[in-house]
Amino acid sequence: MLRIENLTGGYGRIIAVRDVSLTVGAGELVAVIGRNGAGKSTLLKTISGVQPSYGGSVRLGGQELTRLDPAARVRAGLAHVPEGRQLFGALSVEDNLRLGAHHRSVAEADADIEQQFDMFPVLRERRRSQAGALSGGQQQMLALGRALMAAPRVLMLDEPSMGLAPQLVAQILRIIRTLKERGTTILLVEQNARAALAIADRAYVLETGRVALEGPASDVLQNPRIKDLYLGY
Ligand code: ATP
Repeated sequence: MLRIENLTGGYGRIIAVRDVSLTVGAGELVAVIGRNGAGKSTLLKTISGVQPSYGGSVRLGGQELTRLDPAARVRAGLAHVPEGRQLFGALSVEDNLRLGAHHRSVAEADADIEQQFDMFPVLRERRRSQAGALSGGQQQMLALGRALMAAPRVLMLDEPSMGLAPQLVAQILRIIRTLKERGTTILLVEQNARAALAIADRAYVLETGRVALEGPASDVLQNPRIKDLYLGY
């Protein structure tokens, strides 16, 4: 579904992602783990086009996206929930959701918004509240719902557990697993390696911008070096 080949990107002369190749198959949940500053967020930004790529390619379902701007990549089926959620705090929950579907018809958005409310009942209750007034967990649900309103073929999530209390982390991870069970294709970036590996099919470990290891999530979880470096036992 999503095929990244030799992708390189960064900020001016700083190279933060080097020669990264990865794939996400239809219906798969693939995790990218790595330390703070390993390049995980830059990788997602380079895939979604908000940061320029210096080399390599991004293909989605056979379509070449590498030269498209971020909006065109969304229309092609790539949705990105950025780190920090980036909601419109002064707008209502419902308006934030509708913005996710700005390139689709009103009828499509009307139908999908009910689906999001079924998935996240708390958002239905608070549909007229300002997004900025929601709790951290609710804001993460809204960010997920807004991305799903684009009817993406691939959903990219940047650290959805960041800043949440453990109970809420568990809830968000359950939601991500449910999305996968419903057939959503997901690329999940997480610093919380243990949590990500527990729900992923496959994983890539990023170290200073490069893929240091890849494989089935259960193998990565058992890898002695990974246990040592990322799992703390
Ligand atoms: P985190 O979990 O902290 O977001 P990360 O693995 O996502 O970490 P990135 O944010 O992608 O890592 O950062 C990769 C490298 O790029 C780091 O060395 C970082 O300092 C650098 N970097 C990130 N954003 C910028 C920026 N806007 N300008 C310059 N350098 C940046």
